[in-house]
Amino acid sequence: MPIKSTHLALRLLCIPIMLVLIVVTHSLRVPNPILLLIIPVVYFISGLPILAYTLYDSLHEMVNTTEIARSATVCLSLTAIILLTGHFQVKNQAHLTNMEQRNKTLFHMASTDKLTGAANRHGFFDLANTAYENSIELHSPLAALFIDVDHFKMVNDTWGHSFGDQVLMRLSEVINSCLRGSDLCCRYGGEEFLVLLLHSDCTVACTVAERIMEKVRSLRFPDCPNFRFTVSIGIAAGVPSDQQCLEDFINGADCAMYQAKKSGRDRSVLRMVMDGVNTPQ
Ligand code: GH3
Ligand code: MG
Ligand code: MG
Repeated sequence: MPIKSTHLALRLLCIPIMLVLIVVTHSLRVPNPILLLIIPVVYFISGLPILAYTLYDSLHEMVNTTEIARSATVCLSLTAIILLTGHFQVKNQAHLTNMEQRNKTLFHMASTDKLTGAANRHGFFDLANTAYENSIELHSPLAALFIDVDHFKMVNDTWGHSFGDQVLMRLSEVINSCLRGSDLCCRYGGEEFLVLLLHSDCTVACTVAERIMEKVRSLRFPDCPNFRFTVSIGIAAGVPSDQQCLEDFINGADCAMYQAKKSGRDRSVLRMVMDGVNTPQ
């Protein structure tokens, strides 16, 4: 039988409608669970009835049996919905995974020092501020270690800048090897590293500082066998209080580090923090 012109027009109309729907739903990037609900609804309301009607009509003309045509139409429509939904679900899932991965990479790049792999200041303070507040709440002791390479400018001037970079990388490894997993460390600036020892009193802090200095003294570089270097460490230790913020606590360690420099370098100086006040030892 010849296809009626209205049916033909409807059949042709479905194609652009479906295409528009596919493009619109895809470009909206609807999140997964919502997509699962929206896509079948949207297709049913606008596109699928037209498609289903024309399909039913064609089958009816072909087989001339209403039942078969109706069942086949329902089956084909459901298959189409399932296939389309699955297609968009997979695409959307892949897109979300990709975005999560990219966010993780960006976060890592924004909070990590490229040269040493240690945290940078930004990454450090994100965690350190929370740790500091917890210590205040729990009345738990805390220690900050401000570590600065001695005469590092001379290292660069004598052995070259890229050798200086190697020194910083090795120093970062040494510091990490002396810390527990819960402690925090960052490259604070050029040749300065900052450590926060959680739940640690001044005795622990001095022991860790001593261990770092000892390991640094015994570091050897195959390219420059005669090269040796040292670090000066300022320590601020005590139970933090809300009279003093984390930055003030760290300033105490920074001041102690300058005292260590003044007193001849390659040593540590301790400043006790009591009731939010830094007290020189
Ligand atoms: P002091 O013992 O008093 O700390 O002296 P210093 O020479 O270590 O300190 P100073 O501040 O005079 O010099 C620090 C040098 O660190 C200067 C700068 O060029 C160098 N520096 C900073 N960042 C980097 C880096 O990423 N790589 C290298 N190789 N050098 C760096
Ligand atoms: Mg310095
Ligand atoms: Mg220095």
